Amino acid sequence: MVATPIGNLEDISPRALQSLARADAIAAEDTRVTARLLDHHRVQGKLVAAHEHNERRAADWIVEQLALGKTVALVTDAGTPAISDPGATVVAKARAAGFRVVPIPGPNAAVTALSASGIAEGPFLFAGFLPAKPAARRKALERLAGLPYTLVLYEAPHRVVECVEDMSAALGPERTLVIARELTKLFEQIHRCALGEAAAWLREDADRRRGEFVLIAEGPAARSESAKLDWERVLTTLLAELPLAHAVKLACKLTGAKKNAVYARALQLVRAATSRRS
Ligand code: SAM
Repeated sequence: MVATPIGNLEDISPRALQSLARADAIAAEDTRVTARLLDHHRVQGKLVAAHEHNERRAADWIVEQLALGKTVALVTDAGTPAISDPGATVVAKARAAGFRVVPIPGPNAAVTALSASGIAEGPFLFAGFLPAKPAARRKALERLAGLPYTLVLYEAPHRVVECVEDMSAALGPERTLVIARELTKLFEQIHRCALGEAAAWLREDADRRRGEFVLIAEGPAARSESAKLDWERVLTTLLAELPLAHAVKLACKLTGAKKNAVYARALQLVRAATSRRS
């Protein structure tokens, strides 16, 4: 299982190139796409087609090759095979027949987007592509909405606007969304906004709706963490202008934060300011 670039053809490890060069055959999702990668790196290989429409037949053929003592490298058009891509059937059949399956790690769009998203560390849920039909997509989002994880999705460009609209309705417009577009490519763009503003941002410019997308929505737990930071910021601003009791009352009213916590923090801030002055 050989991971290949998600855009920039240089994003492939020496070990992956070696595996492709040494394999007796390279089973590829689209042989033309893989031929371009091989040409770019001057690697020669025998390409055979293994895509979702012939995955079972291709899996049988690959297992036959393994039985003859050959090695077969499996690649998809981009990224890590079997991740929202064909490959799982081949792996299952090869393992069931007792052959070794070796993963050669490399690019994956979801993890690449997450690493540059700035979304708080913590558990994430990779849901891949949601259903294309609106009713099924909304149902899927409702199931995901309450889960305490950062949510990572793939979406096609012609559905990205309706997808972020449905995400906003199901998860709430205040959650942060990161739109990671065309990663590692010439027009790479990583935009961070509130979910409720995402559709308008995409509509503003047709270029923003082109290419390949990873969508990352902040989880509900992370949201309450940023809300906590917000009341501290609001409190600090108000304390600079108002007496303590008044600042606390207003900060609670504006942010919905608990009075005891806000009052305790206000006392700390006022004491710190007094000791700095004396
Ligand atoms: N196996 C791949 C992986 O490891 O990421 C995913 C393949 S899936 C069929 C293709 C989807 O991945 C695209 O529609 C898009 O959502 C996402 N994707 C792939 N390359 C991308 C890129 N360069 N920038 C943003 N998203 C990308």
